[in-house]
Amino acid sequence: DREWPRPDRCRVITIANQKGGVGKTTSSVNLAASLAMHGAQVLVVDLDPQGNASTALGVEHHAEVPSIYDVLIEDMALADIIVPAPEIPNLYCAPATLNLAGAEIELVSKVARESRLRRALDAYDTEKFDYVLIDCPPSLGLLTVNALVGGDELLIPIQCEYYALEGLGQLIRTVDLVKAHLNQKLKVSTILLTMYDARTRLAAQVAEDVRNHFGDVVLNTVIPRSVRVSEAPSYGQSVMTYDPGSSGALAYSEAASEMAHGGAAQ
Ligand code: ADP
Ligand code: MG
Repeated sequence: DREWPRPDRCRVITIANQKGGVGKTTSSVNLAASLAMHGAQVLVVDLDPQGNASTALGVEHHAEVPSIYDVLIEDMALADIIVPAPEIPNLYCAPATLNLAGAEIELVSKVARESRLRRALDAYDTEKFDYVLIDCPPSLGLLTVNALVGGDELLIPIQCEYYALEGLGQLIRTVDLVKAHLNQKLKVSTILLTMYDARTRLAAQVAEDVRNHFGDVVLNTVIPRSVRVSEAPSYGQSVMTYDPGSSGALAYSEAASEMAHGGAAQ
């Protein structure tokens, strides 16, 4: 596989949308895998108590595993929880365990509760990575706020369905608040259309609405609905290794290539 250009500095990309089931985890895992397969050093930070990204990367995340919970709540160093993803060289994961669900409440009484992930990233030498992708839970609570404060860029996956745009206003308002008070650098750099069904007019209409609204941050590549994509996690794999020739794998590779080559506006 040909190598893609690597960024001069580590790009920390938060993948958020408070809606569940829009493709946050699938996109985190498969974009990360694609980037790693093209020569980048990549870390996925799993910030969802469900630990779906950890599962999909084939990384253990039972209750005893040192996890992002320990980093956020117990001040453990990020270096002490990061593990390699077994299937793909250059790809690493900071796993999430179920106790992270409690962190949403436990963070409330912590000092600098919105900035704990940022502090952990700052204390760690992120420059050994080209990309850090942060997979968020489906809410706008303190975990997602930590991811918005910790990231430089926001990637919003949008499912090509009827209620796709509902809730985006609230997400953008949260981003604006974070920018104003906690992280000036944050910008919505990338929007990825997911689970596109080419047979429906609705999907085409949603894609057009999103492009009209968000302009050139929307990647040209859209991710099709593909059974192979949804099967891969149960084998502890990204679709990139589970079925590299499938439409889903090819689309995620294209999308990752666009990101590596400077976004959608090329
Ligand atoms: P989120 O992290 O936003 O909750 P997921 O990435 O877990 O969303 O995706 C929700 C469900 O949809 C999962 O079961 C996943 O396997 C499935 N899925 C995601 N993308 C696709 C796709 N392109 N084709 C088919 N199924 C998909
Ligand atoms: Mg998820």
